[in-house]
Amino acid sequence: MAGQDDEQWMRMAIEVARSKGSDPSTSPLGCVIVLDGKVLAAERNQTHELPDATAHAEMMAIRRACESTGELELRGATLYSTLQPCGMCTMASIWSKVGRVVYGAGRNDVHAMYFEAKHVDTLSFIGDAYRDDIVIKGGCLAAECATLYYPPDAELPVEEQANL
Ligand SMILES: [Zn+2]
Repeated sequence: MAGQDDEQWMRMAIEVARSKGSDPSTSPLGCVIVLDGKVLAAERNQTHELPDATAHAEMMAIRRACESTGELELRGATLYSTLQPCGMCTMASIWSKVGRVVYGAGRNDVHAMYFEAKHVDTLSFIGDAYRDDIVIKGGCLAAECATLYYPPDAELPVEEQANL
């Protein structure tokens, strides 16, 4: 069952997200890339540690998955992310040729600080992609994933808001 498998892999992504603690101010994102029932990569975002502004969980996982397979393309693979991928990571998913993107919490399930200040609709990125063999599905264990992040109505001091 694809749905049960999706939840199983999303649970792993949540574990990866929590691997360095669960402080929502550190944007704990987890990403797992799976091909034929095997994990190619499991990464957390590492922007502050590296430091690298592009080191989102999905970007790191795509890099690791390509390294581990020795392939430029990840056709047939599914990318699981605890949070709706940003524009950069959505485009990277399109470029890397993954077949499916499955995410947990959506943009409206969490505080706006986790996304670009202006709305970039990753769903229409996929819809308008030059590829028609990629699908995106949201809401997989959305409530569990959302507990990793500040809720939409949280009143946060400006210095805690990562994307300003
Ligand atoms: Zn991203």
